[in-house]
Amino acid sequence: MRPVKEKQRIKIGDKCVFCYRQATERHHPLKYSGNNHEIDEISIPICTDCHRGNFGDIFKEVKIKCEIKAIEDNLEYLEKNYPKFNWSQRLRYLKTL
Ligand SMILES: [Zn+2]
Repeated sequence: MRPVKEKQRIKIGDKCVFCYRQATERHHPLKYSGNNHEIDEISIPICTDCHRGNFGDIFKEVKIKCEIKAIEDNLEYLEKNYPKFNWSQRLRYLKTL
């Protein structure tokens, strides 16, 4: 039985996390390898260009930045609710990219 998740941990910012223009969409950067589902309560504000400007897909560097921010801002929550994944190790790895 999965514990009840807290809703929306990140405050909705109105600036794109990558280019700081007006954010128009939200990116969900985290997947949980425990059961491979998207962690949909954690999302990052992003503009359409950064989200889909790479031939309809997200740019790699935007993807990495979103994932770093999502883990940094929610590390305690992630470790509590998704304990089978090593979030600190993932964060260290992302910062080497
Ligand atoms: Zn942007």
